[in-house]
Amino acid sequence: MNRLSNFTTLGVGGPALKIVHAHSEDELVQFVKAADEANEPVLILGGGSNLLISDAGFAGTVIRVESKGNALDYDACSGGMIEVSAGEDWDKFVALTIEKGFADLESLSGIPGTVGGAPIQNIGAYGHEASETIARVRVYDRKVKEIKTFAAADCKFGYRESIFKSEKDRYVVLSVTFQLRKGEQSLPITYAELAKHLGVNIGDRAPVKTVRSAVLELRARKGMLLDSSDKQIMSAGSFFVNPIISKADADKLPADAPRWPQPDGKVKTSAAWLMEHAGVAKGEKLAGAQISERHVLALTNSGSAKAEDIVKLAKTSQKRVMEKFGIELKAEVQLIGLDLN
Ligand SMILES: Cc1cc2nc3c(=O)[nH]c(=O)nc-3n(C[C@H](O)[C@H](O)[C@H](O)COP(=O)(O)OP(=O)(O)OC[C@H]3O[C@@H](n4cnc5c(N)ncnc54)[C@H](O)[C@@H]3O)c2cc1C
Repeated sequence: MNRLSNFTTLGVGGPALKIVHAHSEDELVQFVKAADEANEPVLILGGGSNLLISDAGFAGTVIRVESKGNALDYDACSGGMIEVSAGEDWDKFVALTIEKGFADLESLSGIPGTVGGAPIQNIGAYGHEASETIARVRVYDRKVKEIKTFAAADCKFGYRESIFKSEKDRYVVLSVTFQLRKGEQSLPITYAELAKHLGVNIGDRAPVKTVRSAVLELRARKGMLLDSSDKQIMSAGSFFVNPIISKADADKLPADAPRWPQPDGKVKTSAAWLMEHAGVAKGEKLAGAQISERHVLALTNSGSAKAEDIVKLAKTSQKRVMEKFGIELKAEVQLIGLDLN
């Protein structure tokens, strides 16, 4: 039962020395303090939807975050401030906000995992990121052994980045406070595929509930919604981040390669496009690992994969992209006891 494959959406990962379940914020802090005092390695586990854990497992204490609860402080001028415990399910929370008449999280519908996992890599989808709505993050700081609150401006949010990710193993997210508008219209639609699906122009708004349904539909088509009955969906979502490269390197790419200019003058391109144009094919298999039949960026467990198989498939994809375009694909998924070098 201590096998971590039972706790990850990829369904791989060997045994943990110990797994404890933190049902409250107090328990979470106590478990972390106790493990730190005993000098045991700690792995904080949310929904396991962004993790690739080695077949050897984890030689330490895995602390699963299962704290629940949210507190709504609504005022008509500034909208709602909602503090949510780290162990709440992300998509259930998004659905609840919409049911209660709040807007702004609709584009992030259907992302698996916990609320506490959301600020770690600043989850994003369909043109929006969690950082647009996060007001505060309460954490336990393992270095100074104190509970702290980060204002959004101090979280160093970027594309799939935050201080909680860059200062690895230092902060345990206890709760996240979101500031949401009360309203029925979505944030502006900035993602071309979503705008097309909704029949609106880029920059338009649409009813929040319609946007949520559209996002869920698009995600289901791509195998980007969790569904335990569907093996094509045993993945950790996008395996690689979209590379951000210099303008000079972007100019060397073929004319039809996606290019999204960044505020610092660099250019973001599409990892999926690079993979497909470097010969990585949907459905391609390597032992038990498989490139999803629906989305080239999702590396899946076809049923019997070991972590080692997923790593080999990831390295093969990286190598092809490097050989064809000279661009290094970097993992979005957090690797535990493994690396891609
Ligand atoms: C089908 C699918 C689709 C996905 N689509 C998207 C998408 O569209 N956009 C996107 O951004 N991501 C996506 N993901 C990735 C993933 O869902 C998110 O990154 C999610 O936020 C991870 O949350 P989690 O609770 O599962 O974290 P886990 O996978 O359990 O952990 C991920 C990392 O966060 C750390 N962590 C988790 N909780 C805490 C905490 N409370 N305190 C401190 N550290 C913590 C862990 O130690 C680990 O390093 C997708 C994944 C899947 C499987």
